[in-house]
Amino acid sequence: MRLPGAGRVRRVARTVAGAARRRCARGLVLLYHRVAGPRFDPQLLDVAPATFAAHMDVLQSWGAVLAVHDFEVARRAGRLPPRAVCITFDDGYADNLHAAARLLEARRLPATVFVTSGMIDAPGEFWWDDLERVVAAPSLGATAPSFVQWRGGSGPEAFGAPWTIEQSVATARQQLYLDLSRDLRLLDPAERDARVAELRGWAGVPRKARESHRSLMADELRQLAAMAGITIGAHTVRHPVMARQSPNAQRKEWDDSIRAIATVTGRKVTVAAYPYGGAGDVSRACETVAREVGFDTVFANEAGAAWRWSRRWRVPRLLVRDWPADEFLRRLTTWWESA
Ligand SMILES: [Zn+2]
Repeated sequence: MRLPGAGRVRRVARTVAGAARRRCARGLVLLYHRVAGPRFDPQLLDVAPATFAAHMDVLQSWGAVLAVHDFEVARRAGRLPPRAVCITFDDGYADNLHAAARLLEARRLPATVFVTSGMIDAPGEFWWDDLERVVAAPSLGATAPSFVQWRGGSGPEAFGAPWTIEQSVATARQQLYLDLSRDLRLLDPAERDARVAELRGWAGVPRKARESHRSLMADELRQLAAMAGITIGAHTVRHPVMARQSPNAQRKEWDDSIRAIATVTGRKVTVAAYPYGGAGDVSRACETVAREVGFDTVFANEAGAAWRWSRRWRVPRLLVRDWPADEFLRRLTTWWESA
């Protein structure tokens, strides 16, 4: 016998169950780079320590922050807790230990740091930071490198700080920064680094890293890896656009970075993040190589929620900027609800 309205009750029950399944089928993977500043930051990589602390406080009350392994197991099983979040950092800056880890530890929040292994103990800076120093240099040499389209003067011309890549270009130096950052990232790392060395020579910028812009030293990476809740993942050796590398070159980037990190930390590396990680930076071939290398999960930098059915070797992440806490909360809510 069927009671009147039983069909409707079943339909409502199905809708509720479907909504619950959808809720448990997705989470948000957040992408940070640096916990530093405020200061001149044209690439918008910095989140100031006080802002980062405020973000973490928001996350503690808003959602459930999981370590990467737990997040991934639950995601693939469709059993993520509501508003599940995974916190990640790219590149391996020293401030990830000195500023971020301390704030995470105080709140018992887990996070993953993807380290560019070629920068461990490196004397210099990441190429984009060198480029920032070059374009902001007090003076430029009389003869620009052959690959530079330079129409500005050689004197102490203002870069126009504080300027960021999201603003329109108002000075020749800002244009130079935009052109070079677009071109250099596409080059093979050996060619890229040779050009950056030439640029440093032109602008009189030393190779030695600024204390504020250096990457993790081996002993710092060891300390970071030993902290409760911290997972260290790979971010290649030389930070190339992987889609532009041959499968063999990609394999070498991953294998060498896994080995270098494991040697320092004494831990197996099972997760990674593609350098840059945008739609044009990762190909299907990259995903195949990442699977063959044996990674459990590899993250991209393509905006969107991480769904149960998101591909394991190309999980989306959401780039976080230096937003005040209320804006961060608004964006979290939008990301969650629009997923
Ligand atoms: Zn990176």
